[in-house]
Amino acid sequence: MPYNTIMNEVVLEISSICVACDNCRLICPENAIVTNGQEYLIDHWSCTLCGLCIEVCPVDCIKETTLT
Ligand code: SF4
Ligand code: SF4
Repeated sequence: MPYNTIMNEVVLEISSICVACDNCRLICPENAIVTNGQEYLIDHWSCTLCGLCIEVCPVDCIKETTLT
């Protein structure tokens, strides 16, 4: 984690039950969701917490978490 990450900042994380449907990556207005071909990741610096990805995820695997 970068040393200047804000503690207790709310971010979104994608859990391992992701089925790689690509919905979230396609709908994200900030292009904050990237994939390395196997797992999906959210760039916390680009994400504005708009919630669109959560709405389109078929398996409800995008959750808020807090950086500690
Ligand atoms: S909450 Fe919005 S900005 Fe953040 S990853 Fe999801 S769609 Fe993109
Ligand atoms: S919408 Fe959900 S299941 Fe689909 S790629 Fe994104 S995180 Fe994975």
